Amino acid sequence: MIAVHGRKAVTDSIRAELEAARRGIVSGIAPPETAELVARIERRLVEEARSRLVPVFNLTGTVLHSNLGRALLPEVAVEAIRSAATQACTLEYDVDAGARGDRDLLVEPLLTRLTGAEAATIVNNNAAAVLLVLNTLAARREVLVSRGELVEIGGAFRIPDVMRSAQARLVEVGTTNKTHKADFENAIGPKTALVLKVHTSNYAIVGFTSSVSRVDLAAMARNRGLPVVEDLGSGTLVDLTGFGLPKEPTPQDALRAGVDLVTFSGDKLLGGPQAGIIVGRRDLVERIKRNPLKRALRVDKLTLAALESVLRLYLDPDRLPERLPTLRTLTRTEPELRAQAERLFPALCKAMSGVADVTIEACRSQIGSGALPTEHVLSCALVIRPRGGRDGKRLARIERGLRFLAVPVIGRMAGRALFLDLRCLDPMHEATLSARLAEFQLPDV
Ligand SMILES: *Cc1c(COP(=O)(O)O)cnc(C)c1O
Repeated sequence: MIAVHGRKAVTDSIRAELEAARRGIVSGIAPPETAELVARIERRLVEEARSRLVPVFNLTGTVLHSNLGRALLPEVAVEAIRSAATQACTLEYDVDAGARGDRDLLVEPLLTRLTGAEAATIVNNNAAAVLLVLNTLAARREVLVSRGELVEIGGAFRIPDVMRSAQARLVEVGTTNKTHKADFENAIGPKTALVLKVHTSNYAIVGFTSSVSRVDLAAMARNRGLPVVEDLGSGTLVDLTGFGLPKEPTPQDALRAGVDLVTFSGDKLLGGPQAGIIVGRRDLVERIKRNPLKRALRVDKLTLAALESVLRLYLDPDRLPERLPTLRTLTRTEPELRAQAERLFPALCKAMSGVADVTIEACRSQIGSGALPTEHVLSCALVIRPRGGRDGKRLARIERGLRFLAVPVIGRMAGRALFLDLRCLDPMHEATLSARLAEFQLPDV
């Protein structure tokens, strides 16, 4: 055990198991035999040596699943990370001048070229981007937001709370379902710093509704000398309708409409590493870069390496679906997924024999991560329905059994069935999934 795990870890494990045995004795449980004690010590060591961050099969159908790591990076980005991680690099060094450089300059020219913005800067994630923009431009002043856009994103990002953390005062404008231009005009006062538009990433207000268009909002704000900032959430740099996907607004759309600053995520539809991207007016971006908070929220070289290589792929949008995993996954067709389902069907039927029935069914997958909440893409799933309808707990046991495989299989429960949506299963990993399914066992509880 020492040869495998080291003396320190083995000693700790022995002490922990002896302690547990002593506690057992105190409460009347007989101490384990020596062989059993040794086995427990080794089990503890193996358990503690196991990484907590392990790969899973994302068969939820949600392509950008925040709990399962969002966007998968293309190979070029992985190579860029490897190179930046293992060799000294020009993170903040200008080779031509032989002097200190600016890490933002690694990606700023690409971002301005792709979005048409004057300037750009990068922080840790989009939540940080919104925080930094508000703190820089609106600390101790007022920010106008439509009541229809007071968003809560998963993981406790809520516009009123972010506003408070940024030391800005939120001024709610209009109503939940209707906000008019006049509502904004009437709310402007001497303390107003900016107008914030927030993409309603994870919900839709439908029915008797109206909101102020970007163009109108931007024109109104410009007349009153106020900047307009838009939190776009999931920013994509291409028109997704060109790939047969639903329309999602781009930073280019927002800037063209007259928005002064746009913030968006790096690891949502963009398909890159976790990052928050801020693009827009040069004077505002310069102020943001001078905020001491920027230093605290800046990204590391690994993120910049990955982001740069992903942004480069956008220079050739025609080839994006084959090169960018997020787009490739989103554009997989239902027949393609059905063929994959048919290939996996025998392995799953065998794993479920005597336990559940398996069918192949068309379904709809979500894009996820607050992109296009009401839109779905047509997909295909292997659907598991337990046999013997009386046992209501059986489906939960099957779900657990799949989660406990050597590579956990995470599906989606819907109604009385477990859907294994194949949209996110890379054909490269199909054989591994089959092999893992062969190890399926129905857990007791
Ligand atoms: C996702 C999202 C955020 C948070 O972005 P992260 O990159 O996850 O920090 C903020 N605002 C909106 C509208 C979003 O959709």
